Amino acid sequence: MLQPVPLAQKNLSDYASIVGRSLIDEIRLLAERLAGRRILHMSATAFGGGVSEILYALVPLMVDVGLDCEWHVIYGREEFFNATKLMHNALQGNPVDLDGQQWNVWTDYNEINARELSDGWDLCVVHDPQPAAVCQLAHDKAKHWIWRCHIDLSTPNPDTLARLSPYIDCYPDAVFHMPGYVPAEIASRPHVIPPAIDPLAPKNMAFSPDDAVYICEQFGIDVDRPLLCQVSRFDPWKDPLGVIDAYRLVKQEVPEVQLALVGSMATDDPEGWDYFNATVAHADGDPDIHILNNLNNVGAIEVNAFQSHCDVVIQKSIREGFGLTVSEAIWKAKPFVGGNVGGIPLQVTDGQSGFLVESPAHCAQRCLEILADPALGARLGRAGKEAVRRRFLMPRLLRDWLELIDGALG
Ligand code: UDP
Repeated sequence: MLQPVPLAQKNLSDYASIVGRSLIDEIRLLAERLAGRRILHMSATAFGGGVSEILYALVPLMVDVGLDCEWHVIYGREEFFNATKLMHNALQGNPVDLDGQQWNVWTDYNEINARELSDGWDLCVVHDPQPAAVCQLAHDKAKHWIWRCHIDLSTPNPDTLARLSPYIDCYPDAVFHMPGYVPAEIASRPHVIPPAIDPLAPKNMAFSPDDAVYICEQFGIDVDRPLLCQVSRFDPWKDPLGVIDAYRLVKQEVPEVQLALVGSMATDDPEGWDYFNATVAHADGDPDIHILNNLNNVGAIEVNAFQSHCDVVIQKSIREGFGLTVSEAIWKAKPFVGGNVGGIPLQVTDGQSGFLVESPAHCAQRCLEILADPALGARLGRAGKEAVRRRFLMPRLLRDWLELIDGALG
């Protein structure tokens, strides 16, 4: 019942011209020692959100360098994903913990997945809290286990973390995006590895301005007028309502401005539709606010087009584990304005590679500055792109993983 995810084909050599030969050579050397090792990545969904985005590139690259690597998605139904969404929110600081029955649902589905897991793995990497109990429940099916946490654990609901912790403590190693996310009391060896984007994925590959215009026009964007854009799930932490508030303030000064809110609906995110509807209601029929999702056929290419074409990319999150959308946008050399939270300041230096903001009014002010001064936008975009090239591209993440796996497997 665990579903293997079909993998794309990726060649590490294709990245040499972007990240440099020496990193590619370093990766090949590391990978030689791990050739043929059976590695499993286990996650909750193959669609929507940052985890699947990363695995779609990382797993094929692990295969390309010689590991016997697979990615499986766990089995779950609505009651399970309702519980795990609550857990996700609680671990990011929401005061509402799961009730007893919801915790039972979580363990029941973990038991099913643990039973269904095949054995003989050298290493099983479990992503995020949804399948976190599988290590304890199926310990013998892999020689080594790593928990990969993609969320911001800096201010968790203490009850939720206390209940989850014994399951995490079963993992000899745990990986977090930033030092501030490592829980104070953790039995696992903590590692800090920030995520990365794939510069050669359709979402991030170089796009001609004409192609970007052609696609944006098909979604009703007037390409001759300024466009603000946020790409993210419809989720309170991503604050699409705050983005609309910021846009309205910008519109008072620049009446021709438009806003695109592009958000996919993840299969493990039952709250998504409620928040999508709340966002549509908040937009109140404004014809210059374009609210799009994957059901409008907005896929990777369209996200690329919006990020490549718009005048300012916004990520006004109020909580953000990392925010792949930030590096994705900056990689397109676009001026960026985003919340000063979580992984966003890791990717953006305020005033150099974008602007970090604290409120809708602050966000509006920075957008206005960029719209008024294209040279400022171009400077921020150029600096941002170089920073992403150095720190947040997939080969660096692959290297970090291979080092970690090598250490873990001895
Ligand atoms: N994304 C997408 N289409 C959308 C909205 C989001 O493809 O309509 C992608 C986005 O480009 C990014 C990922 O989903 O690659 C979101 O990852 P991020 O780390 O920003 O946030 P998360 O959703 O994991 O909290």
